[in-house]
This record gives sequence, C-alpha cells and structure tokens, in this order.
Amino acid sequence: MKTVLVRKPGDVKALEYTTVPDPTPAPDEVVIKVYRCGVCFHDLVTRNGTLKAGVKMPCVLGHEVAGEVVALGSQVTTAKVGHRVATTQRSYICGHCRFCRSGFEALCPTRIFMGDHGYNGGYAEYLAVSERCVTEIPNGVSYDSAAIASCAIGTGLNAIRDVGRVQMGEAVLVTGAGGGLGVHAIQLARLAGAFVIAQTTSQEKAAALKALGADAVVVHARGEDFSEQVREATGGRGVDVVVDNVGTALFSGIRKSLAIQGRWLLIGQLSGEFVPFNPAQLFLKNQSMLSVTSTSKRQLEDVLQLLRQEKLTACIDQTYPLEEAHLAHTRLEGGGAIGRQLLTPI
Ligand SMILES: [Zn+2]
Ligand SMILES: [Zn+2]
Repeated sequence: MKTVLVRKPGDVKALEYTTVPDPTPAPDEVVIKVYRCGVCFHDLVTRNGTLKAGVKMPCVLGHEVAGEVVALGSQVTTAKVGHRVATTQRSYICGHCRFCRSGFEALCPTRIFMGDHGYNGGYAEYLAVSERCVTEIPNGVSYDSAAIASCAIGTGLNAIRDVGRVQMGEAVLVTGAGGGLGVHAIQLARLAGAFVIAQTTSQEKAAALKALGADAVVVHARGEDFSEQVREATGGRGVDVVVDNVGTALFSGIRKSLAIQGRWLLIGQLSGEFVPFNPAQLFLKNQSMLSVTSTSKRQLEDVLQLLRQEKLTACIDQTYPLEEAHLAHTRLEGGGAIGRQLLTPI
C-alpha cells in the first residue's frame, strides 16, 4: 500500500511518500480502508521532533481516521466488513484496566496512540487498529466530518462538557480559535450556553469566527497582551473558563483574562518552550488548571450524534491526496487556515 513515512524528524521533506506491505489484522483488530485522515498539529510536532514522548520512528503519522472495514481479526466480535467507522486517537487499549472500565480509556497505561508509534497511522491506504478503538459512523454523517470527530471536535467536547463543566451563562475564552480545535470549541461552548470569546492573531479570521458563533473576537499582534480586550468584553470580570489550544505563547495573557474561580483547560502546546510561573498568582484567586487529554469512545460517539443532528458543523479547510501531505503540513504551519486539513489516502 501507499503511505507517508517519517524516518527521522525534520521539515516537510521528512514526509516520504512510499510503499510498504499491507497491514494484516491481529486477533482483536480490524483493517480499515482509509478514506479520510485529518492533519493535526500533533503530526507536525511529531514530524519536526518537538514531540518525543512515546514516539517510535519510523512512523506513519495520522490519528484522525474515517474509512471502511475491509478485514477482521479472528477475535473481533462487533465490527463487520463494510462498516463505515471512525477511530479514536488510539490504535490499542487493554479494555480491562480501571481507566478502560470507567470511561477514561484515553488514560489506559498500555494504550498506543495512533500516528506516532511505528506503522499504525492514518497517512496510509490501510490501517489495522483494535476494534475497541473504532465506532460506526451514523447514517448522514460524511467521512469528512467523521474523520475529525474524535480529535478536532471530541477533545473540545471533553474539555467543555466533561472537564470544564461549562454552565449556561458563563464566559468562555477559546484560544487559537481559528485552528482545528478552536473552530469547533467555539461551537461547542455556544451549544453549552456560554458567552464565547474567540482569540486570534489574524484579522482575516475574525468574521468567520463570529459566523461560527463567537459572541466577541479578540484580535491582537503576536506577543501582545490581549487580556484588556477580554476584560472589556466581560464587563471587567474576565472569563470563567479558558479552552487553551496554544499554551506557552499566550500564558500571561490567559492568566490575566481569568475571572475569580476561573478554570483554565490545558489542551494544546504548540512549542517546546517553558514558562515562568508563580503558583500564588492562581491560588489567591481560587483559579484552577485542568488537563484535557484526547477523547473517549463515548465522547466520539456523542460528537457523531451532534454532527448527525446538525447541531455543529465540521470545519474542513482543504483536502489533499496522500502524496501531497507536505502541502497540508505547510498550510497548517503557515497558520492561515480556518479548520482542519484532510488527506484522502484512497
Ligand atoms: Zn489530532
Ligand atoms: Zn486499559
């Protein structure tokens, strides 16, 4: 099959379009014909070497997959050949540890994240994953939308509904609002009944972010403090919740934007840089930092239902054939896109 391999970290030239043997399913696995694979910032930081934890090279990138089941391992019980399926961001979970048994299988100690650990990524025509990591796509939901349901949308659902517990009438700041996670977090926070403020460094994106449901858009130059604008939009109070897709680069502005008792949801970290921080700045205002890590299968299924009900829209920027994965990475690195880039391996 055709695939895009990364043998060692580097720029976009590290993406090698090549041929490898087709995958065969282990007893608990299904083989998926990959119709769509989302391009995530995780892929960029894996490719360029910023991300090191858990990475095993050479690897096939991609953990946002939708496709059709074409082969089954001997112990597969529910999936059938011909099923339209979407994956969680993992290729393996044990299925029986305390995390797997309590809906937190994203934390399974023996999980294998998809797309940075050997040949288990979606930048390929075929992919073998445990059936525990796939779910059927409801009728009426396209492969385009289903591919990004777990990572680009489900992570936001996890943040806003389950970790952040956003309440009707609260104010929510979404950072990196024009990115793949941001455009969906805006919609999800709006669905939760929040007053939504979108942060971006791109004036060109402001109108689109409003159209997606942002009540206010904060535009600022890179490196500039935007917290005054956030305070202004909230009558001086600040925001109850921050959905932070950016990390270090916005740290100070976010801290100053948080209201008393604010919840800071840590989701994204776009660089390898550290940040100086005095814990008293947070606890004197009774503020919390909370971690959001990927998406459970249940959260993925809830997102697919929201898509089927047309309560939110999957925002796709551009679609590329597999051999043009480097163009998708260049577009994502450039920061000008609104929404996700998709690959069409088949
Ligand atoms: Zn992702
Ligand atoms: Zn487990």
